[in-house]
Amino acid sequence: MLGKDYERQDCSLARALEAIGERWTLLIVRDAFYGVRRFTDFQAHLDIPKAVLSDRLRGLVEDGILKRRPDPKHAGRHIYELTAAGRDLWPVLYALLVWGGRHRNQNSRDFKHADCGTLLDENGRCTKCDLTPGPEDIVSEPRRGRRKIRDDPVAIALRTPHRLLEPVET
Ligand SMILES: [Zn+2]
Repeated sequence: MLGKDYERQDCSLARALEAIGERWTLLIVRDAFYGVRRFTDFQAHLDIPKAVLSDRLRGLVEDGILKRRPDPKHAGRHIYELTAAGRDLWPVLYALLVWGGRHRNQNSRDFKHADCGTLLDENGRCTKCDLTPGPEDIVSEPRRGRRKIRDDPVAIALRTPHRLLEPVET
C-alpha cells in the first residue's frame, strides 16, 4: 500500500502534505471554513463515502487541524471545528481557489471583506482598507449568475452571504 508519509523528504512541504495531501482532506477543511461542523453535513455537501469521511476527520483531528467535541444538540455525535493551526490554512486554501479559477474554471463563490464589502483581490487583500482580513472577517457568497448545481442542505444554507467560520444552520 502507498503510505501517506514522505519519510525521506526533508522539507516542510512534505510535512504539510502528510497532513493535508490526501484526497478529500482539503475539501473537508474548506467546508470547515464555511462553517460545516457535523458529520452528516460534511457527508451531504461532499458526497463522500462515510468510511472515507470518518478516516479523514480522524486524521485531521490527529494532525491538530480539527478539534472534536461532543455535539450539545445530539447525544453521541460530535462537532468538528478548525484549530488555530487549521485556521492558518486559510491563505493556502485561498491561493488554491485563485489558482483553480485562473487555470481551471471560475470559482462559484466570491469572497469579500466583511467590514466594507470589497471583493478580495487574488492575494486575499482588501485594497480599500489596505489589509488582508483573516477568515473570521471574510464573507463568502455565491458568484452572481452562477447556476446552482447542488441542493443539499449545506449548499442551500450557503446560498445567502455567509461569514467564514460561522456555523451553517442546516
Ligand atoms: Zn475592506
